[in-house]
Amino acid sequence: FSYPLPANEPVLNYAPGSAEKKRLKEVLAELKSKEVDVPMYIGGKEVRTNKKYKLTAPHEHKHVLGYYHEGEEKHVQQAVDAALAAKEAWANMSWENRANIFLRAADLIATKYRPYMNGTTMLGQSKNAYQAEIDAACEIIDFLKFNVHFLSEIYRQQPISGAGMHNRMEYRPLEGFVLAVTPFNFTAIGGNLPTSAAMCGNVVIWKPAHTQIYSAQMFMKILKEAGLPDGVINLIYVDGPTVGKVCFTHREFAGVHFTGSTGVFNNMWETIGKNMSMYRSYPRIVGETGGKDFVMVHKSADPDVVATALLRGAFEYQGQKCSAASRAYLPSNIAEKVKKKLVAGVNSFKVGTVEDFTNFVNAVIDEKSFDKIKSYIDAAKRSKKASILVGGECNKKEGYFVQPTVIETTDAKYTTMYEEIFGPVLTIYVYPANEYEKTLELVDSTSPYALTGSIIAQDRYAVELATSKLRNSAGNFYINDKPTGAVVGQQPFGGARASGTNDKAGSILNLYRWLSARTIKETF
Ligand code: GLU
Repeated sequence: FSYPLPANEPVLNYAPGSAEKKRLKEVLAELKSKEVDVPMYIGGKEVRTNKKYKLTAPHEHKHVLGYYHEGEEKHVQQAVDAALAAKEAWANMSWENRANIFLRAADLIATKYRPYMNGTTMLGQSKNAYQAEIDAACEIIDFLKFNVHFLSEIYRQQPISGAGMHNRMEYRPLEGFVLAVTPFNFTAIGGNLPTSAAMCGNVVIWKPAHTQIYSAQMFMKILKEAGLPDGVINLIYVDGPTVGKVCFTHREFAGVHFTGSTGVFNNMWETIGKNMSMYRSYPRIVGETGGKDFVMVHKSADPDVVATALLRGAFEYQGQKCSAASRAYLPSNIAEKVKKKLVAGVNSFKVGTVEDFTNFVNAVIDEKSFDKIKSYIDAAKRSKKASILVGGECNKKEGYFVQPTVIETTDAKYTTMYEEIFGPVLTIYVYPANEYEKTLELVDSTSPYALTGSIIAQDRYAVELATSKLRNSAGNFYINDKPTGAVVGQQPFGGARASGTNDKAGSILNLYRWLSARTIKETF
């Protein structure tokens, strides 16, 4: 049975006076009017503990969204037991019945829960309405529908047979359970990582970042309403080391689907490597980690295209995208023009809460993140090699607000040209316009990451040169565009080097990792 290629979910624009804006406003008010009590979901049961923690809005400390129940080691163990108990029935369920659960979840979001997915993402993760819409509504719906399509394509792929024999491939789920660890910055990654593995017949332990729990629990409820059997995905709120302690020492550990920092992912590899003899099979280790994403500009570029790519690429969702533009190389002939546009652009951004839809910039996720971002800005203010072109204000009194900031450096290897900041900070470096090729080498060698990057040029030879010289510098390479905003089914997403295993989220390649094929030959 084949599921045809779906169309991408249309993006609603929440224009003033639109019905979708009115409905979203109502849901935001409804969500704000009550404090939710958020349990873990283990074996389909709601699990509450006596350790309750506050969920607050990053842009409004005083607003309590609710409380979540934090678990401990025994809950991780219970989640693994529940997953393994659900395994056999789930792995043997017909593909069509499995697939329809995820298609129904996509449908429920599109038709019923869209404002709730968006509302919890806006309030819990401080995303404006548009950024929430492309993430918690459209991208999740796309992941669910496209992954069903991709998997059905895999299931159809069969080897050739000859006279006197027949060959076939059976695409089995992995033996054991899969751990999904998801970040705060995209609700859709929380939507994708557990479900892509589960869709293949695997059972999953899902550990979201504590700063994403508010929207994660909403998605979990939708999966349950769509008919996901108990124990197939178990949602737990337990600290990372404790989750690792149980999962990475378990014989049935089959793999990890991770998005987060390079440091945490490195530790996982190390632990899994050390514990290898404990496992029944070699675990699948799939991860998307950091980025230090570049925008390389050629002297033939249109300054307006450059400014738009930088302003949107660096500052949408406060720069908290692995793909965010964070270092730009400007040729001397147009640098002044571009700088003026950056200053004007940043000064035109309104910074504030998500409820005022005219705010382009909202808060960064939490205090730790705020302090880290501020420390880079403060260091640039003090440095002889850097200066603040625009921005630089930080204020955490009412929410974690950081003004979009452009640092200009005279040193192509200045700290903020290679370290990931994960905030609204862009560093620009002006190079002599006739040193294009030499600067391409700098782009490649300056950071350990290779996630996304852009070349902006009108000259096709310049595009050609950048495309070949930067072949390994980015897993997602954009020509005359910002380096963010990959769309499922259009730009499969992921990078190599320190940016991850490049198993392209939103593509057929990712699904292969959650299957373990059996080849069956029968002789007649
Ligand atoms: N897929 C997102 C984009 O293209 C980024 C995902 C991430 O930040 O991990 O902007």
